[in-house]
Amino acid sequence: MERLIKGHKRFLKEVFPGRRSHFHLLSEGQAPEWLFITCSDSRVVPDMVLGTEPGDLFITRNAGTVVPIAGQDVDGCTATIEYAVNVLKVKHAILCGHSDCGALKAALDRTALVGLPKAERWLHHVEAAFGHRQPLNPADGESAELASLIRGNVVAQYLNLKAQPAVRQAMDEGRLQVHGWYYDILTGRIEEWDEKWNGGLGRFVSWGE
Ligand SMILES: [Zn+2]
Repeated sequence: MERLIKGHKRFLKEVFPGRRSHFHLLSEGQAPEWLFITCSDSRVVPDMVLGTEPGDLFITRNAGTVVPIAGQDVDGCTATIEYAVNVLKVKHAILCGHSDCGALKAALDRTALVGLPKAERWLHHVEAAFGHRQPLNPADGESAELASLIRGNVVAQYLNLKAQPAVRQAMDEGRLQVHGWYYDILTGRIEEWDEKWNGGLGRFVSWGE
């Protein structure tokens, strides 16, 4: 814990004073433009890789970057989506999976879930990834099979996201865009799902430099 206490003291001393007016503004309310749905994985740090600031991203995270199917029991993710879209009126909803995701590793090797009854139930949500697996990419090396499944999970959860009632309605009204991303921890690069490519076959496209 010492590292955290030290870090916080440094924040109070070195960071906060220079941003006092920004935090003062934020203390009165938020108006984030982006809803960001990603994995709990500690290596995914949205503000760092996107150059965003406090107040910019409205974030919900869970194991595996899951959006449960519309119509199922309520859960933290779908409640957060509803609030972001209907109350905060975010303009974009971004679903971002990542390389080396433990949830999809477990989907490939279910022995990883022995003794984890809650995780096992939760990760039923990622099974749809198998139906959307993407072509193997040689750039992914030994992880190509896993990366193909993780990209498939982005597609599956992206479709679940678009099927959420609040999202569907906001898209129909032309006030919300939905995005599916794959973040590669090793290279730091983001690929975006282009669902319209090749008559709807779709593919992931890197943003490049
Ligand atoms: Zn993950």
